Amino acid sequence: EANNQPPPTTASANPGTDPAASTVPAIVEERIVKSGGDTMVRRYIKGKFLGKGGFAKCYEFTSQETGAVTAAKVILKASLTKSRAKQKLMSEIKIHRSIKHQYVVQFQHFFEDADNVYILLELCQNQSLNELLRRRKRLHELEVQCYTMQIINALKYLHAHRIIHRDLKLGNLFINDRMEVKLGDFGLAAKLDFDGEKKRTICGTPNYIAPEVLEGKSGHSYEVDVWSLGVIIYTLIVGKPPFETSDVKTTYNRIRKIAYSFPDNVIVSEAAKELISRILIGDPTQRPTLDDICNHEFLMRNTIPKALPPSLLACPPTGQ
Ligand code: ADP
Repeated sequence: EANNQPPPTTASANPGTDPAASTVPAIVEERIVKSGGDTMVRRYIKGKFLGKGGFAKCYEFTSQETGAVTAAKVILKASLTKSRAKQKLMSEIKIHRSIKHQYVVQFQHFFEDADNVYILLELCQNQSLNELLRRRKRLHELEVQCYTMQIINALKYLHAHRIIHRDLKLGNLFINDRMEVKLGDFGLAAKLDFDGEKKRTICGTPNYIAPEVLEGKSGHSYEVDVWSLGVIIYTLIVGKPPFETSDVKTTYNRIRKIAYSFPDNVIVSEAAKELISRILIGDPTQRPTLDDICNHEFLMRNTIPKALPPSLLACPPTGQ
């Protein structure tokens, strides 16, 4: 069984209100000891609360020096007592700071004080695809095509750098003020030492986890991200994840059996159904590559806009 999952990420229902404001000071000081021995202090002004995840709380931070506004992921050091938690955070930082891509949340800087570790990230003003889908119920296929292309671009970049994200889900796909998707949260990512290497650690989020990860026997690789992409495409079009049930065990059984269907009350194009059914295949070697997906009819049948208008953030729930 998947027993070492992180606690589920629950974005705050009402960003701006902080359930535990006391642990992060209003002004955070970064002390930098210079080579001559002098200490330099950089100050950041804590702004609005953005949300919380399994380990981190996220706030807007404004640099007093430059006025630059970033998202700060704040991790209480007291929560890092277990060496595994510490290792995970170090791995997240090591992988994330090494990458730069248009559709990946940009890592900017990290530091610590007595109580917390702070990771400064590119600010994504428009929450994640999770909140967007909740507001909209489901998205139009043209929007899904547009977001899918951006996610594929991010994944191609990561895989080319031998990084598997391993926790690809709506809640980790942030949206910036230009309506671009930014893939974030590298807490479960793995960097392979060589291309054929297999990973064995069971990780992921129940609804999006690939069958070979649940199986665990022969290890897993890049194809787990392709599986999760298939789950994402289904979820955005249909409005709920394909294997969702009220308990995790039943969900895992459905994933093992690949038991999902398309509801009658939602219109889904044949191209979309065909692509989803090609991706959600048990044998990872039979899944399409990211290039295959780009060349699939679902992404080739019309011109896909490079970006979407912000009006789609507030568009009323679709009635189809
Ligand atoms: P964890 O690793 O603990 O799961 P996350 O990376 O998921 O933490 O971040 C927790 C929450 O903080 C997210 O759900 C989101 O609401 C908010 N958040 C994270 N990164 C950003 C960002 N770059 N811009 C804006 N909000 C963010």
